[in-house]
Amino acid sequence: MTEAVRLDQVSKVYGRGQSAVAALREVSVGIPKGSFTAVMGPSGSGKSTFLHCAAGLDVPSSGAVRLGGTDLTGLGENALTDLRRRRVGFVFQAFNLVSALTVTENITLPLMLAGAKVDRAWLDEVVHRVGLAGRTGHRPAQLSGGQQQRVAIARALVTRPEVVFGDEPTGALDTMTARDVLTLLREVVSALGQTVVMVTHDPLAAAYADTVLFLADGRIVDAMTSPTAEKVAERMTRLGAWT
Ligand code: ADP
Repeated sequence: MTEAVRLDQVSKVYGRGQSAVAALREVSVGIPKGSFTAVMGPSGSGKSTFLHCAAGLDVPSSGAVRLGGTDLTGLGENALTDLRRRRVGFVFQAFNLVSALTVTENITLPLMLAGAKVDRAWLDEVVHRVGLAGRTGHRPAQLSGGQQQRVAIARALVTRPEVVFGDEPTGALDTMTARDVLTLLREVVSALGQTVVMVTHDPLAAAYADTVLFLADGRIVDAMTSPTAEKVAERMTRLGAWT
């Protein structure tokens, strides 16, 4: 099975000396292409650090991260910026849309920044798939929260990235809207073969994934395939997440 992302012995230490915090401790994991992975763990367990290191947003203190065939270790800031623009997509809790731009302009922004051409057929497919076909000329303020997150997902997909990383992508949405957005992410994996890695604290959200990775104190302590919300919640309770 081909891996979209591979971490080998990745450690991340913030600060120095007495104030040093080990956020990740020798994490090794491979994320298969075309899979949907959820990353869970108690607050402070290293979820954000894991996502940032895997996505090239942050540089590990030691160890290696590979995206597709590329070893990110030793890439300069310019090369990393280019890689983030062309080869990964991001969906955040706060939708991070540009309020002055239309839906279409927001979606194609990463292409503009990368100096890449818009593939009209692919743009149309992405817009249809996220259910925004009638709203391409709207501005973010004219859309609901769920629709805004659909714009952000379309923006993440438009460059045909190797991996889409989500940091609590449904954290700002009500339960019903969150369900729609998770169903969309699931479709993007199942129908388009997109690889998605999502940090969440919500067992209901994690249940949409193929695999759940559990972090505790900077280490991957467990992995669950075919997760259900109940099994995930039970595992989190044993990690002391809600005590
Ligand atoms: P999570 O996303 O699971 O809440 P984080 O990855 O944000 O965990 O943080 C893991 C640990 O690293 C925590 O102890 C946190 O306080 C620490 N940490 C995260 N970012 C920084 C930073 N920029 N400087 C210092 N410590 C940090």
